[in-house]
Amino acid sequence: MDNVKRTIRVSVVEDDPADFLILDEMLLDSSRFRFQVSHISTIDEARPQLLAPECDVFLVDYFLGRETARDLLLEARKLHCTVPIIVLTGANSQKLDDEVLELGAADFLPKEELSLPLLERTIGHAMRHKRAELELERMVKRDPLTGLGNRLLFEEILESSLSRCKRSGSSLAVLFMDLDRFKEINDSLGHPTGDLLLVLISDRLRSVIREADFIARIGGDEFTILIDDLHSASDALAVAQKIVSAVSHPSPVGGHELNVSASIGLALYPENGDTPIKLMQKADLALYEAKRRGLSKVQCFTTNLQTQLEKHLSIEKGLRHALEHDQFELYLQPQWELKDRKVLGFEALLRWRCGTSGAVTPDEFIPVAEKTGLIVPIGEWVIFKACQYLKEWQAMGIENCRIAINVSPLQLRAGRFVDALESIASAEGIGTDLIEVEITEESLLDGVEEHGRVPKELSRLRELGIKIAIDDFGTGYSSLRYLRQFPVDVVKIDKSFVSSDQDALMEPEICRAIVTMAESLGMDVVAEGIETQVQLATLQKMGCPLGQGYLVARPLPFEAATRWALVGRASPA
Ligand code: C2E
Ligand code: MG
Ligand code: MG
Repeated sequence: MDNVKRTIRVSVVEDDPADFLILDEMLLDSSRFRFQVSHISTIDEARPQLLAPECDVFLVDYFLGRETARDLLLEARKLHCTVPIIVLTGANSQKLDDEVLELGAADFLPKEELSLPLLERTIGHAMRHKRAELELERMVKRDPLTGLGNRLLFEEILESSLSRCKRSGSSLAVLFMDLDRFKEINDSLGHPTGDLLLVLISDRLRSVIREADFIARIGGDEFTILIDDLHSASDALAVAQKIVSAVSHPSPVGGHELNVSASIGLALYPENGDTPIKLMQKADLALYEAKRRGLSKVQCFTTNLQTQLEKHLSIEKGLRHALEHDQFELYLQPQWELKDRKVLGFEALLRWRCGTSGAVTPDEFIPVAEKTGLIVPIGEWVIFKACQYLKEWQAMGIENCRIAINVSPLQLRAGRFVDALESIASAEGIGTDLIEVEITEESLLDGVEEHGRVPKELSRLRELGIKIAIDDFGTGYSSLRYLRQFPVDVVKIDKSFVSSDQDALMEPEICRAIVTMAESLGMDVVAEGIETQVQLATLQKMGCPLGQGYLVARPLPFEAATRWALVGRASPA
């Protein structure tokens, strides 16, 4: 009979040797289970066991010297302990019993009521209950598509691994991986194919890493990988390279042979941080840098990136302050007809007068505003200011002078941009047709997505009679296909094709191609960054109708811009 009895390993945390002996003897008498009992006499000894338990259940006395079971329960919760903890309470206090249950104890047993049947039943229940809880948790914290962990589980596991590393003095690495141009695959081949690809990539990731490491999918095509027990930074780099090359094998999916690539950002403990948040933030930043460098790149977090991060944080803080203290200004740069310099409208460009760090350019602060979501309230301020300008002009009798505002993809994705624009314009008594909106090619990519918010926002803009311009044309991923699918009114040739350190146009062939293309699609063209007479003349010869640039005017404060609007013609300075 003895050989069919189930073995249960019990760790008793008890500072009183006599009490331990009583329990031990009671458990040894069991005819239901074969209990293997071990004795731990302090909380300090018990702590390492929480991370890697060598038992199936803990029996913990509530009062343990100066500490109590409360401390152990708190720590067990933090470390995500997978073994149930039953607390032995001596004081027969309802309050104490409630407290230990609240803190995650599986159950409590009043010491004076202890009996073998009670112990057997309580231990059996606690173990079954814990198993069910872990299973449920496993389901909630998994990504249903790939079966990998999700962000929540990743953070928890990272937290326990960090505690272990801190005790043992070992290192670990956090990798952030993102598929390059996954969105294009999703858009062109459809979401079901995109899903199949994600499953295939997850399998490849699993095959590359060791059993002890952990992978999670934390967003559409974003994966995080935890590499535990690291010998050196170069080991982590080697794993990252292995992943990049595994992903880049041709992927047979849904009848297509896809060539995908991945970029990876990497942060190390202890070098780059000692909390899950810090490490994940830094791996994310390294990934951002990897993507900036091109496809299939691996980037470690560096001190240089650290400096960038600090700058990012200080800009973020400054922007919040600026929003509250009205430190933004909206400048206006004239847009004119090349043939006679007649001013048709202005582009609104944001300026930030930052008290502490001097002038910060939009190219520095706009990306931070986008990454932090601050672009949404800042963008609303821009709409408000532009409408106020238009209202003042109306009062002065200036008619038909448009203001074009720049709108980030995130503003459109947030989905309340058009509402804000409509309500601000109507509150100020401005016709929405006096406003033009400049979006980037990235928004246009989003704009062809079937169910996204961006296409809805763009369609509503058109319904309101608002012209849509594609900014910085030619520098993003835009293709003619997108331009056809989502017709826009104006194409702006990016200034990098126009201005150069010489008199001539930087890229005359590209400029010509854009002008021809826009003409055939019935769109207007604005050339940005015209700085010299030669550039102006060449663009005019190509048939480019409109322009803006330092040659005629820099972005101006409202009063100066108003003088241009009144005259209606930009004469050479
Ligand atoms: P953008 O929309 O392409 O704006 C044109 C940029 O070119 C402006 O830079 C303008 O000052 C500059 N520029 C104009 N003429 C010339 C020229 O002849 N030569 C040269 N080298 N540059 C010229 P700025 O004001 O620094 O803005 C940079 C970018 O920041 C803008 O590029 C736009 O993408 C973004 N931005 C500015 N204001 C806003 C805003 O209110 N909201 C959003 N979302 N983005 C904004
Ligand atoms: Mg613009
Ligand atoms: Mg531009």
